[in-house]
Amino acid sequence: MWKTIRITVLLVVLVIVAGRTWLDRVETQSWKRPLWVGIYPLNADGSPSAQSYIADLSAADFASIATFFEREAHRFAVALDEPVHIELYPQGKELPPQLDSNTGPFGVMWWSLKMRWFAMQATKVPGRTPSRIRIFVLYHDPSWQQSVPDSHGLQKGLIGVVHAFAARSMAGSNNIVIAHELMHTLGATDKYKLSTGEPLYPAGFAEPDRRPLYPQPSAEIMAGRRALSATDFDMPSSLKDVVVGPATASEIRWTHH
Ligand SMILES: [Zn+2]
Repeated sequence: MWKTIRITVLLVVLVIVAGRTWLDRVETQSWKRPLWVGIYPLNADGSPSAQSYIADLSAADFASIATFFEREAHRFAVALDEPVHIELYPQGKELPPQLDSNTGPFGVMWWSLKMRWFAMQATKVPGRTPSRIRIFVLYHDPSWQQSVPDSHGLQKGLIGVVHAFAARSMAGSNNIVIAHELMHTLGATDKYKLSTGEPLYPAGFAEPDRRPLYPQPSAEIMAGRRALSATDFDMPSSLKDVVVGPATASEIRWTHH
């Protein structure tokens, strides 16, 4: 009897989570209304320079992300004026749970549950409507470390964790990373080789039919880099030099399969 009740409760919870995930997907891929995306800045290393950088942030610093989505959506004949609306929220105090790079599948599952719980708590801002998609941007002082941990975007939970550099000169590339992780929350997959970072052909190329093929004029958002030759790739410094390729457009339902 008791066992039956426990199993029933567990099944109900699982059905609710699955239903919620399905609704999230339908809603975020319908492109009928602007999608509200919240930027939640955090001081990753507790440095004074990251702190003053965050204090100076304004919504205008993230405007290029909305412009990018608008320009690219229109190229794929999505009629919506403002496909993505970006809101800047006040700085949070707590950092999201960390994911170790060598974690197994069970650990990743557990981490994503902790992430959902964290996001629920961290986005409660008095007087502000919570956003549909939550992007936590963790700022690091570039003089303290040369590289930052990997960023993540979760479609299940609609959460992004972006590690960024607290430097004006990096604002453009930070916005590329934010747009990339945002794309993951919408269902887009990576289009680069994990071992080397090279863009995969053809899906990771902005213009796969271009002759000559190299150099590519821009990067595909889910590849992140543009191919200059068969062996050289570089990372653009702003979203002006990034496009959404047909494979990504199909994954996020800008085009229909
Ligand atoms: Zn990615």
